[in-house]
Amino acid sequence: MADIKPTSGGGKCPICGRPTELKYRPFCSHRCADVDLSRWLRGAYAIPDEAEDEDGERPEPAADDDAEPGPDRH
Ligand SMILES: [Zn+2]
Repeated sequence: MADIKPTSGGGKCPICGRPTELKYRPFCSHRCADVDLSRWLRGAYAIPDEAEDEDGERPEPAADDDAEPGPDRH
C-alpha cells in the first residue's frame, strides 16, 4: 500500500497509545514492538475461524515480562 506520510515524530504506539519513539517506530518501546510481534505470530499460527472485529484495538498486557530480558535481536 502506498501510505506514505512524513514522519515528524507525531505517531502513536498502536499498542499502548504512547508517543512513538523513533528508535522503535512505530512503537514506543521495544516492549511494545515485542507485544505486537507475538500478537502477529500468534495470528499467523492460529487463524481464527470467526470473523473478528478488528476495529477496536486494545492494548494487551504482556504475559510475563518482568523476569526475562528477552532474546537480543539485531
Ligand atoms: Zn507502546
